[in-house]
Amino acid sequence: MVEPSLPSFEECSNEKAVYPGSFDPLTYGHLDIIKRSLHYFQNLVVLIAENRKKTPFLSIEERVGLLQKYFHNDSRIHVEVWKGLLVDYMKQKDIPVCIRGLRVLSDFENEFQMAITNKQIYPDFEVLFFMSNMQHANLSSSMVKEMIHFQGNIRLFVPDIVAEHLEKRR
Ligand code: ADP
Repeated sequence: MVEPSLPSFEECSNEKAVYPGSFDPLTYGHLDIIKRSLHYFQNLVVLIAENRKKTPFLSIEERVGLLQKYFHNDSRIHVEVWKGLLVDYMKQKDIPVCIRGLRVLSDFENEFQMAITNKQIYPDFEVLFFMSNMQHANLSSSMVKEMIHFQGNIRLFVPDIVAEHLEKRR
């Protein structure tokens, strides 16, 4: 077997990564992944991407507005929207690294399939996974949407500016 050669120091890139998702809405689970990513990357594009398997609750404009409002004084976070394939965005911007979070086993199966497909389309593509913090392992945007519908207390799961917006939409 041919031994792989190690990349040189110059090839090491930790300037920017993309964190794609629906963010419908932004939760403390997302924020935990963002915070942890910033230990390894100087800049992070939080990319609001279309997920055809999910029916959106908030419009793209509402999600952009909330993310921009939340991160308004942090120049490391760049909020963007993309309507096509994630790998096309990454290729176009020359950002080969994408961040995802892993909660339960079912997340893994889906992520594994997506990662293999993305690598086939864009050979430089890499995905880095952060294991969910135990405190947020049960937390998802879908769960927050259920809570809104049934008038539950969402303040445990989303930051105040998001909660205020969602409470108006009840
Ligand atoms: P998508 O529709 O792409 O799954 P989401 O907004 O639901 O978008 O999630 C974006 C990313 O954040 C995914 O990788 C998801 O696994 C991760 N994520 C969401 N909630 C949590 C959480 N509570 N803990 C860890 N990762 C999470």
